[in-house]
Amino acid sequence: MVFNDEHELLRHRVRDFAESEVAPVARQLDESSRFPWDNVRRMADMGLFGVNVPREYGGLGLDYVSYLIVLEELARVDASHSITVSAHSTLGLSPIQAFGSEDQKRRYLPLLAAGQVLGGFGLTEPGAGSDASATRTVAIREDGGYRINGSKIFITHAGVGEVFVVTAVTDRTRGPRGISSFIVTKPTAEPEEAARVGVGHAPALEPFTPGVRCGRKEDKMGWRASDTRELFLEDAWVPEASRLGPEGDGFVNFMKTLDAGRIGIGALALGIAQGAFDHALGHLRALGVGRNAGEHQAPQFAMADMATEIEAARHLVYHAAWLKEKGRPYSRPAAMAKLYSSELAMRATTRAVQLLGPDGYSADHPVERMMRDAKVCEIGEGTSEVQRLVIARSFLGPAAGS
Ligand SMILES: Cc1cc2nc3c(=O)[nH]c(=O)nc-3n(C[C@H](O)[C@H](O)[C@H](O)COP(=O)(O)OP(=O)(O)OC[C@H]3O[C@@H](n4cnc5c(N)ncnc54)[C@H](O)[C@@H]3O)c2cc1C
Repeated sequence: MVFNDEHELLRHRVRDFAESEVAPVARQLDESSRFPWDNVRRMADMGLFGVNVPREYGGLGLDYVSYLIVLEELARVDASHSITVSAHSTLGLSPIQAFGSEDQKRRYLPLLAAGQVLGGFGLTEPGAGSDASATRTVAIREDGGYRINGSKIFITHAGVGEVFVVTAVTDRTRGPRGISSFIVTKPTAEPEEAARVGVGHAPALEPFTPGVRCGRKEDKMGWRASDTRELFLEDAWVPEASRLGPEGDGFVNFMKTLDAGRIGIGALALGIAQGAFDHALGHLRALGVGRNAGEHQAPQFAMADMATEIEAARHLVYHAAWLKEKGRPYSRPAAMAKLYSSELAMRATTRAVQLLGPDGYSADHPVERMMRDAKVCEIGEGTSEVQRLVIARSFLGPAAGS
């Protein structure tokens, strides 16, 4: 892949940050499942929470490729930092940017793009994730607004975040066309940390939406420094002005959000694979593997396969981003980029652990964490099975070729 000078400069900046500030704390944060508040502050100062948000709304105004470079480089060192930026940007902020009214954009985007508050997206419910049309959360019209009741599970930033886009059924008779989305707010669950680092809470959002609260923190296999919790909506009342887009557009809009999100998870998974490759490379070089032609061919072949697959993933991810940037259809390429990169992240991290032997199996080595972090890429924002369905339907489904 050939990137322009601006992209390369950004890549170097983020790589420097990840190696100097993230790498030293990644293991401890993973072990204690603690949110990376200090680095959230640093990333906010670098503008990483608003990379592709227009400058007029407080973002860096860069292109989508730049945003993916940030996700890739953070994940090369620590996937939890990368998903923190990704979930905030793709899931929390981008629906407001894409479908919000001018008032909604003016109210929320500057706070989110500056990283002053963290955002999230509440779609998944027990029994409604892969089949998002099964949403049970309801929003009933009442007193010039909506009364929302329901619960969401596995919501990134449900604890530390303050601004959320959530889906709810407004007309049960219309199936997916009866789902709408709403902006709700709640105070951070970690106010002391937010006060200590100076980001994560915005008094300007007060009064917060009544009836919105988070549940307990998930104890996860990977992405352990990322905040994942339930989000409860209990008689949560929002004014009509908090509905995002027209009533009934929620399902279509979050499908569009997830299309873009898939490229983001593709970039994140690519970063994990690259990080695992780099660790394995350092280890093999230290052992002198490859110095004498003909010796140690097995690890050399493993590295050649990994490097080739990483290059293929990079092309898929950035090609999908290019299509999105040019306004071309990118649903299938995005699904392909996510599917391939996620499964590659598992293969590459497993191989890296194998190449490092017991060292790679020890929690002292980053590849042990990377292997655990890779797994969720095959699950979050659409499982690998769902990606295969999206890809197959694009040429076999009822709308194919029409
Ligand atoms: C760490 C983490 C963070 C997350 N963050 C968020 C977030 O911020 N916001 C949010 O809304 N959600 C979030 N999620 C939820 C995630 O997007 C869903 O869990 C995921 O899309 C799977 O949906 P599900 O939970 O309904 O699983 P299920 O659909 O129940 O999946 C179970 C299995 O069934 C398979 N399956 C399901 N349907 C089919 C089918 N039609 N054909 C073949 N196989 C099928 C799946 O592929 C999977 O293997 C997060 C999840 C995790 C683990």
